Amino acid sequence: MYRSHNCGELRASHINTEVTLAGWVQKSRDKGFIVWVDLRDRYGITQLVFDEERTSKDMMKQAQDLGREFVIQVKGNVIERASKNPNMPTGDIEILVSELNILNEAQLPPFTIEDDTDGGEELRMKYRYLDIRRNPVKNSLIFRHKVTQEVRNYLSKEGFIEVETPYLIKSTPEGARDFVVPSRMNEGQFYALPQSPQTFKQLLMVGGMDKYFQIVKCFRDEDLRADRQPEFTQIDCEMAFIEQEDILNAFEGLTRHLLKEVNGVEVEKFPRMLYDDAMRLYGNDKPDIRFGMEFGELNAVAQHKDFNVFNSAELVVGIAVPGGNTYTRKEIDKLIDWVKRPQVGALGMVYCRCNDDGTYKSSVDKFYDQDDLAKWAEVTGAKPGDLICVLSGATNKVRAQLSALRMELAERLGLRDPKTFAPLWVMDFPLLEWDEDTKRYHAMHHPFTSPKPGQIELLKTDPGAVKANAYDLVLNGNEIGGGSIRIHDKETQALMFDYLGFTPEEAKAQFGFLMDAFQYGAPPHGGLAFGLDRLVAILGGQETIRDFIAFPKNNNGRDVMIDAPAPIDEEQLTELSLKLNLKP
Ligand code: ASP
Repeated sequence: MYRSHNCGELRASHINTEVTLAGWVQKSRDKGFIVWVDLRDRYGITQLVFDEERTSKDMMKQAQDLGREFVIQVKGNVIERASKNPNMPTGDIEILVSELNILNEAQLPPFTIEDDTDGGEELRMKYRYLDIRRNPVKNSLIFRHKVTQEVRNYLSKEGFIEVETPYLIKSTPEGARDFVVPSRMNEGQFYALPQSPQTFKQLLMVGGMDKYFQIVKCFRDEDLRADRQPEFTQIDCEMAFIEQEDILNAFEGLTRHLLKEVNGVEVEKFPRMLYDDAMRLYGNDKPDIRFGMEFGELNAVAQHKDFNVFNSAELVVGIAVPGGNTYTRKEIDKLIDWVKRPQVGALGMVYCRCNDDGTYKSSVDKFYDQDDLAKWAEVTGAKPGDLICVLSGATNKVRAQLSALRMELAERLGLRDPKTFAPLWVMDFPLLEWDEDTKRYHAMHHPFTSPKPGQIELLKTDPGAVKANAYDLVLNGNEIGGGSIRIHDKETQALMFDYLGFTPEEAKAQFGFLMDAFQYGAPPHGGLAFGLDRLVAILGGQETIRDFIAFPKNNNGRDVMIDAPAPIDEEQLTELSLKLNLKP
C-alpha cells in the first residue's frame, strides 16, 4: 500500500495514528537540528518533521538533501503541531517521520510550483505536467470534471443517450476550414475531421435516437483569435419530435442545473431577445445584460442640424456612461483615442456631458442647443452626472464599434462581475449572411437550419431578410451555445443548397448521404451545441479557456510541449502518396 491517507485529509482527530503518505516535496526548511518538509499531492499539503532527537542521523541527512519535487513516501506518526497554521486544512498536525523512501528524484523545475508562479505562459505550456501540479490549473481541471459530470447526470436523467460519432469523416459546413487526414488505404483521398458532429446527429434522429448528446471534440482550422483552440469540446445535443420551445426548455434546464449545482446560483427563467433587438440595443448578437448602457439611436434627433458627419451617416447612436461626467478632458481624449484604435476602427467620437444642474456641454455645441442635447439624453437614458458617447457611420460597423466601447467602459466601471450570471436566449437569427469577399450569401448558422415558417418564398426576393429558427444561448456576453430547428425534408434541403450556391452535383457529393436519409422518414428535429471550454471558464469565473484545458495549444496552433505539428518522414509521405510543395 503506497499510502494510507492523502496529503489533504489529516486533522487533529488523527493524532497518534500511524500513517503512510506519498507525494511531492513542495519545499523544505532546514534549521540544522530540525527539518520540515511540505509534502504535496492532489489533495493538499501535509507538513513532515524530522528532528535530531527523534530521527536517525542517516534519515536526517536524507531529509536535508531532499530537493523540490522529489517524489517520496513516508511512514510516521501524526502529532500535534507546536505552532499551528490556521490557514492550512492540515495545519493542526504534522507527521513525525519514521521511514523515508525516495521514490524518484527530480530536476529543479523550470518555474516554481506555486499558486503565483514565476513561470511565463510559454514556459508553463512547455512543462504543462508541472503546471498541472499548481493549484489554479489543477482546480480548474477538477472544476471541469464536475461540470461534465453534472452535464451527464442531468441529460441522462432527462432521457438523453450519449452516442459517439466518428472523427474520420468528411466536411461538415460550420463555416471554418477543415483539418484533413490523408487516407493510406484510399490513395489520394482525405478524411476531414469534424467541425462538429452536425450531420451525424441528424442521422441519429433519422435512426430514431430521439434524444442524443455527446461531449465531443470538434476541429476547426481557423486563424486563432485570442482564446480559441483548433480543437475544442462541445456538449452536442439533438432531439426529435420537438418544437423550438422544447429545445429551449430542455437546455435552459441544463444550464440552470449547472448554475445551481456548480455555482450554487438559482436563476429565474432566462429572458429572450430577438436578434434584431440585440443588434439594435447592444450592437451585438451576444449582449452582456449584467448592466444597462443600452444604445439609443439618435438619427431622428441629431440629423438635419448642419453637422455633416451625422447627416451623412447611416446610423447615429449613443450610450450613456453612468457617472461619466467626472471624466476629465484628458480622460475623454484618451477614450476617443481608444475608439480610434484599428481594433475598434471608429473615425471619432462625439460626447456630451450631462451636468448635475441639468445643463449639457457637448463637443458639438456649435450645432446643437440645450433642447437638442436634452433629446439625446432622453433617447440614451442619460441622467445628470452621465456622459453620452456618440458614434456614427455605416450601421453594422458603428454598432460593432459602440458595442466594443460599451464593453470596455463596463469593464472599467466594474460592471462585469464574474460572480453574477445573466443568461439570455437570442432568437430568430437571419438565415443567411452576406459575405463581402465571395460576394454571396452563406448560411449564418449552417445549411441545415430551417427558415421560419412561411419565409422560404422570401428567399427569392430578399434573402437577407429571411429569419431562421435559430437561437443562441448567451451568458455574460459570451455565446455559450447555439443551434436551430433543422430542415427535415429533402425538397427544402435541396432548395437551401441551391440558394447557397451549391450545384445539385456538389450538394450530392458533399451531403448526398443526408439527403438520401431524408427519404426514409426523417422526423422533425433540432438541437444545439454548447462550447464546453468557454462554458466551464465562465462558470469558473475566468475569462480564458486555456486553464480549463489540460493540454492546450498556443495561438499558432502549436502544442509546445510535444512539439506538434511536426514534419513526417519521407517514408510516411510515400506511403500516403503525398509530395510536399512548400512555399519558398
Ligand atoms: N453544429 C452546430 C455548431 O457547432 C450546433 C447545432 O446546430 O446544433 O455550432
